[in-house]
This record gives sequence, structure tokens and C-alpha cells, in this order.
Amino acid sequence: MNCPECDSNLYDVNHPCPKCGLDLSRSAWVVIATITPPEDAVLESLIQSFGIPVRLIHSVGSVLGLAIGPLGEVKIAVPEQYAARVRQLLAAEAEERS
Ligand SMILES: [Zn+2]
Repeated sequence: MNCPECDSNLYDVNHPCPKCGLDLSRSAWVVIATITPPEDAVLESLIQSFGIPVRLIHSVGSVLGLAIGPLGEVKIAVPEQYAARVRQLLAAEAEERS
């Protein structure tokens, strides 16, 4: 994947960018969607397919195996530098499905 700041190649998102020093592991992560399984796995692989790091934040409910109502919600988070791009991708995806 490429650095969202300077577009140089990042071999490992867990290390700072060699060119501009952007450190994605220290970046603020923003929640770009809140969804329920199994959509979380679909979104995760979609975002990863664009080379964008993604984290799933499971609510307490799904940790306990209760995927009912708001407790089963999963929050999708990406580094803030990617948030705008991911929102565009998701909007385009939603368009395709409708
Ligand atoms: Zn960079």
C-alpha cells in the first residue's frame, strides 16, 4: 500500500513511512461505519482489498456471543488519513448493490 500523505510505498503499516515519517500505528483511528455481522467481514475484506488497514471493534455483546440488537454491533475503524477515501469506497459499493 502507499502512504496516504506522500504516496511512497509502505512495506509495513506498523512502521513509520520512510519518506515523510507518517506513523499509521500512531494515527488516530476513526469509526467510519457501525454494522452487524456478517456484514463486518464483508466490509473488512473489501477495505483490505484496497490495501487500507482496518480494525473491527466488537461490542461487549458479540464478545459474549450475544449478537442481538445494538450489542451485536461492530464498529469499523480506519486511520483518519484514509477515512474520506473509505467513505467514498463504501458509497460506491452501496450504489453498486442497489
Ligand atoms: Zn509518507
